[in-house]
Amino acid sequence: MSGHFVFDPAIENDFPNFVTHLECSYTGETFPSNQIHGLSPAGKPLLVRYDLPALATSVSKDALAARPGGFWKYREFLPVRQSSNVVSLGEVMTPLIPLHKLAAKGGELLIKDEGRLPTGSFKARGLALAVAMAKELGIRRLAMPTNGNAGAAMAAYATRAGMETTIFCPDDTPEVNVSEIEYQGGKVYRVNGLINDCGKIVGEGKEPTGWFDCSTLKEPYRIEGKKTMGLELAEQLGWDVPDVIFYPTGGGTGLIGMWKAFAELEAIGWIGSKRPKMVAVQSTGCAPIVKAFEDGEEHAPLWENAFTIASGIRVPVAVGDFLILRAVRESGGFAIAVEDKDIVQAQAEVAREEGLLLCPEGAATFAAYKQSVAEGRIKASDRAVLYNCATGLKYPMPVISRRLDKNQPIDYSSI
Ligand SMILES: *Cc1c(COP(=O)(O)O)cnc(C)c1O
Repeated sequence: MSGHFVFDPAIENDFPNFVTHLECSYTGETFPSNQIHGLSPAGKPLLVRYDLPALATSVSKDALAARPGGFWKYREFLPVRQSSNVVSLGEVMTPLIPLHKLAAKGGELLIKDEGRLPTGSFKARGLALAVAMAKELGIRRLAMPTNGNAGAAMAAYATRAGMETTIFCPDDTPEVNVSEIEYQGGKVYRVNGLINDCGKIVGEGKEPTGWFDCSTLKEPYRIEGKKTMGLELAEQLGWDVPDVIFYPTGGGTGLIGMWKAFAELEAIGWIGSKRPKMVAVQSTGCAPIVKAFEDGEEHAPLWENAFTIASGIRVPVAVGDFLILRAVRESGGFAIAVEDKDIVQAQAEVAREEGLLLCPEGAATFAAYKQSVAEGRIKASDRAVLYNCATGLKYPMPVISRRLDKNQPIDYSSI
């Protein structure tokens, strides 16, 4: 199960494909799969549906276990038809790393470290699928708004697929993200606004430019890529699910995708009806989903003056809000906001105590875990999985100023 996926057309047949149709996640209206789609006519995300009984007879757990790791191994569960449309940068099965010191007493705490994926974040999962499907459907030019990592992943995969990308990000997007986008072949603009303002520019540019809008959930396939987080997690746990999953929630693609994965796995009989409590983690500076959850609302209105140091979850309004809220509620989970100062502290604590560097969004899930145990919202004995969605190396760390002059006598007793 280790190693990474290297695509070799000589040894792979065309992918078995079980897609039956696309379905509006709000109205249930259905659409043919083999054509270009954005949102449904109702303005809601489209979900890919499969012939699951046929899928179940074509692949087994043993067959999957024998394949090299990386999300392309779940190809029967994915929409790509032609193997030649797969774009690969060396995907890996991301490790589940136990935190022995920081787990609550009697409990098990696992970090799914998505920072090991190409471009250093789990956006690789969604964008690899979106780009492969764009290639399959003959799309040549992609655009998206981003808080950083999605743009980087899209630029990398699209460049590899020979596509053009135009990307818009908020002014204060981490420098490393802006640079990596352009360096990996994208064209990036900083915008004096937030991600929803950038999204508006992408939407309005569709007519004059002819680009395809790859915004979160505005095309059907990023969810399918993020769904592999759920498939992979279940496989790593011996086709079981944990008691609780903490997910740093921006647009919510991963949370929605994992929820879909668990439903599909149950439908083919690979897991039972047990579900993890899905916990949507946000920052108190941008917590639209938490507010809607607490207010008992189906949708989450735009959060004004959004601010958090965890840029990946600074998403004031999400088109899939009702899907996030539905999954959280059906799972018996909840939505929780943590303060930025607790995110900073959580990041330092995990680095210092466990030697694991989290991104701020990943650190937010640890802060939320601690808060949830303390408030009795989950049991200390639970097996909890936290998502570290990007490598901590992309983000600023405290500056160290300690120096030594090699030309002076060294007092080793003071070192
Ligand atoms: C995109 C992103 C998120 C949020 O993911 P969604 O699935 O869009 O909710 C969280 N953290 C990081 C580092 C991200 O890049």
